[in-house]
Amino acid sequence: MSYDYVIVGGGPAGCVLANRLSADPSVKVLLLEAGGGDSNPLFKMPAGFAKMTKGVASWGWSTVPQKHLDGRVIWYTQAKIIGGGSTINAQLYTRGNRKDYDAWESEAGCAGWSYRDVLPYFIRAEDNQRLVNAYHGYGGPLGVSYPVNPPPISFAFLRAAQEAGIPFNDDFNGRTQDGIGHYQLTTKDAKRASAASGYLAPIRARKNLTIRLNAPALKIVVDNGRAAGVSFASGGGVETARAEREVIVSCGAIGSPRLLQLSGIGPADALQGAGVPVVHDLSGVGSNLQDHLDLYAISECTGEHTYDRVAQPHRTLWAGLQYVLFKTGPVTSTLFETGGFWYADSHARSPDIQFHLGLGSGIEAGVASMKNPGVTLNSAFLRPRSRGTVRLASADPAAAPLIDPNYWADPYDRDCAIKGLRLARDILRRPALKPFVLAERLPGDGLESDDDLIRYAYRTCKTDHHPAGTCAMGVGSEAVVTPDLKLRGIEGLRVVDASVMPFVPSCNTNAPTIMVAEKASDIILGRTPLRAAEGV
Ligand SMILES: Cc1cc2nc3c(=O)[nH]c(=O)nc-3n(C[C@H](O)[C@H](O)[C@H](O)COP(=O)(O)OP(=O)(O)OC[C@H]3O[C@@H](n4cnc5c(N)ncnc54)[C@H](O)[C@@H]3O)c2cc1C
Repeated sequence: MSYDYVIVGGGPAGCVLANRLSADPSVKVLLLEAGGGDSNPLFKMPAGFAKMTKGVASWGWSTVPQKHLDGRVIWYTQAKIIGGGSTINAQLYTRGNRKDYDAWESEAGCAGWSYRDVLPYFIRAEDNQRLVNAYHGYGGPLGVSYPVNPPPISFAFLRAAQEAGIPFNDDFNGRTQDGIGHYQLTTKDAKRASAASGYLAPIRARKNLTIRLNAPALKIVVDNGRAAGVSFASGGGVETARAEREVIVSCGAIGSPRLLQLSGIGPADALQGAGVPVVHDLSGVGSNLQDHLDLYAISECTGEHTYDRVAQPHRTLWAGLQYVLFKTGPVTSTLFETGGFWYADSHARSPDIQFHLGLGSGIEAGVASMKNPGVTLNSAFLRPRSRGTVRLASADPAAAPLIDPNYWADPYDRDCAIKGLRLARDILRRPALKPFVLAERLPGDGLESDDDLIRYAYRTCKTDHHPAGTCAMGVGSEAVVTPDLKLRGIEGLRVVDASVMPFVPSCNTNAPTIMVAEKASDIILGRTPLRAAEGV
């Protein structure tokens, strides 16, 4: 089997690349995805997210014990399905702050990745239901819309946050990120708009694009310093696909450094420790792991103001009917559709805390669920200084990797996170929420000191699912790829996904990953880069 491009990993980045690179019918493209298809209706319904961190369509990995979180092992959902994270995520559409991308250029040396360089690629991807201006567009593959019918408690939350001094913002992805509001979502016509539905479904008939599902790549084949192809499992056997032009690794911020290391590309000492022969000693592979850690407060409601009781069988039936017949009701909700961005550190260059209002309790794996209806408010610190690693436990491609986000290694991250949790509790106690909120249940009465809250966080914190940075682009010796996303030291090999971000952006990471892949496709095809108009 021979192709021009072999793309490994059918997540958001892989789907974008498969679409853009196969647009020329003379170019043969293979997309390999370890997981299966997305035909189950759960993946289409926005509220299907409630099932998605509980083991559905994911690899089943956890972190190693976290040294600075009292040894906690944290369940670490990573998608294993076509569309990757965009098929199982909470569908929040956020881009972060313009200063995030300016720092990619000015601090990490990624020329061509400043905000004005990346903005046109966000817009090219977008099919915004409502907004058309200097920051937004329509007609792209990725559906973006506002929540269909947010319940009254989410409007009360907006008022409560304003009572706490946080201004209202109706577009976090426009001129200003600061403030509180309803999120834009990757939903279209009340259905999830994943990268698979937006970028792959419309082009399935292309004869020059082959998509292989349930086909985990085992190794990149390197011949004389050049990536010659990829061997992958299929049925009970192993096949090898040759790449005439390039192998593109898009396995995500955990999967990409994992596959590179399984192929002998990574820090020599770590490879030897795992029993993998060294093909190319590249110290940055699997380092620089950054992630957002979530802390949360949960309050009991005064009545059925959230969707906790929808899980009861007769209500599920009614909600299902409402959805199928009218495209309204709880099933249209992504369950996290309201929130915003504010400050833990008053000197921060831009918002460093993100709130997600959860319309229930126990929505995500490991999060407590209340006996009576509850409401959750997550707060995540957005610009961690801690850095972690992704390493191999062994040379066995079936073994889980050693994921070590190293949360709170830098005490600044802990201090900011605790301030964020205090802000969340403050909002939930404001007068506007009084008719909806009976009392705080977590952290709960009596836990007020920093020490109390730190111990509470050890027990309850969770990942916000935003790993990035493990194959960072840049110019220094720790960079894994150059700013044109070529792997340093091997020909014909690029990495394109969340792993190349030198710093995790201050937001959820699906839209930024799609932007990276949109821009990468122009780089690969040798097109003139787009650039935002002056004055934006
Ligand atoms: C539970 C959850 C909730 C989230 N919520 C949001 C949200 O609301 N909004 C938001 O913006 N972001 C969210 N994110 C983050 C966002 O989805 C990710 O940043 C994004 O999916 C990253 O895209 P990627 O292409 O880098 O990698 P991934 O999405 O991880 O895709 C990588 C793909 O490669 C495949 N793969 C891995 N290894 C191999 C191999 N060896 N061979 C073949 N295939 C392989 C995987 O199966 C996967 O399908 C969430 C993520 C998760 C997991």
